[in-house]
Amino acid sequence: MATAAWHLGSSVAKWGLRPLVVPVVGLVSQRALSVLPVNDEIKGLNEEQKQLCQNMAKFLQEYLAPKAQEIDQNNEFKNLREFWKQLGNLGVLGITAPAQYGGSGLGYLEHVLVMEERFRALAAVGLSYGAHSNLCINQLVCNGNEAQKEKYLPKLISGEYIGALVRSEPDAGSNVVSVKLKAETKGDHYILSGDKFWITNGPDADVQIVYAKTDPAAVPASRSITAFIVEKGMPGFSTSQKLDKLGMWGFNTCDLVFEGCKIPALNIQGHLSKGVYLLMSGLDLERLVLSRGPTGIMQAVLDHTIPYLHMREDFGQKIVHFQLMQRKMADMYIWLMACRQHVYNVAKNIDGQLDREKLLVVYDMSQDMPK
Ligand SMILES: Cc1cc2nc3c(=O)[nH]c(=O)nc-3n(C[C@H](O)[C@H](O)[C@H](O)COP(=O)(O)OP(=O)(O)OC[C@H]3O[C@@H](n4cnc5c(N)ncnc54)[C@H](O)[C@@H]3O)c2cc1C
Repeated sequence: MATAAWHLGSSVAKWGLRPLVVPVVGLVSQRALSVLPVNDEIKGLNEEQKQLCQNMAKFLQEYLAPKAQEIDQNNEFKNLREFWKQLGNLGVLGITAPAQYGGSGLGYLEHVLVMEERFRALAAVGLSYGAHSNLCINQLVCNGNEAQKEKYLPKLISGEYIGALVRSEPDAGSNVVSVKLKAETKGDHYILSGDKFWITNGPDADVQIVYAKTDPAAVPASRSITAFIVEKGMPGFSTSQKLDKLGMWGFNTCDLVFEGCKIPALNIQGHLSKGVYLLMSGLDLERLVLSRGPTGIMQAVLDHTIPYLHMREDFGQKIVHFQLMQRKMADMYIWLMACRQHVYNVAKNIDGQLDREKLLVVYDMSQDMPK
């Protein structure tokens, strides 16, 4: 089977990319040009996983990182669709999807490896990728029926379609089972009415998984949630203006409007009024995959900080020679490695690659992190 690492390896080899470590000149404007080598030996990955990380890093640092500053500043990724198709060609959009739908048939560990490199290159595009590949594609893989998988997965995995997951509403964030979007049955259709809020990829998505209430009177409220697959262009569905966020610029977020939106009953994912199980199990996997975002950002901070310490001089020497700076670097490195390894262990455990007994003690490391 041609895996994601293989796809990437052969493509990257053809492009003849520049070496990963390049001189750092003018740090702020050159954020895309500083990438430190990461010692793969201590990550505990197999050869193919190491190759996947290296090839993904090469591709993203070559293709995406040089555009990162412009995308961030303008809050616009002009070549988003083209980039998506490239990711599809490289085999990384459907990492956890079976090969029969065009996926790579790999595990959550491989997915988190790719996520980290994505955030390392440009965090905003990393989140957009997570919403597509995990929140949308993986939910379809886990919960879609055969007809739904055959209809939607190939185009989502090839990058022809962009995907999203639609849960939140103005009054349903953390308390997600309090969603109010109404879905009323009408023959072989459902009519959806209400609004959704803060949807990653919302303005661009061709396919979205939408949680709505099929029985608003149900007690408890969690018993009344159903997941629907909604396509762009379905009657009564529209998106509002792109939101202006405080940060994470470069991927599009918006509110969605359902005004008597007609969805075929065939587009119900899983079972009627049992969507809460899909929602909660999806959140568990989402937390795993998206937790690699912050470690990608931590790696990007190291990528920039360490060369800076070797360049900046004060009190007659490079500041890297000061013990306090060395201590700070050591702290950053230790916390990055600890967080990274913890996520790898959880992913390996879910993939069945790790004996539960061998798992590290689980605790919230962020509580002890240096401020
Ligand atoms: C950039 C971005 C992208 C997003 N993308 C998507 C998307 O693609 N799809 C989607 O459906 N949603 C998306 N969201 C929405 C996101 O899921 C919600 O913002 C999130 O669920 C939190 O909800 P809220 O913003 O309403 O905060 P609230 O629920 O109002 O929480 C506010 C604060 O109160 C705390 N809090 C709430 N309840 C409790 C409690 N019981 N105990 C202790 N503390 C509590 C929270 O931790 C938080 O600090 C996105 C949001 C952002 C910012």
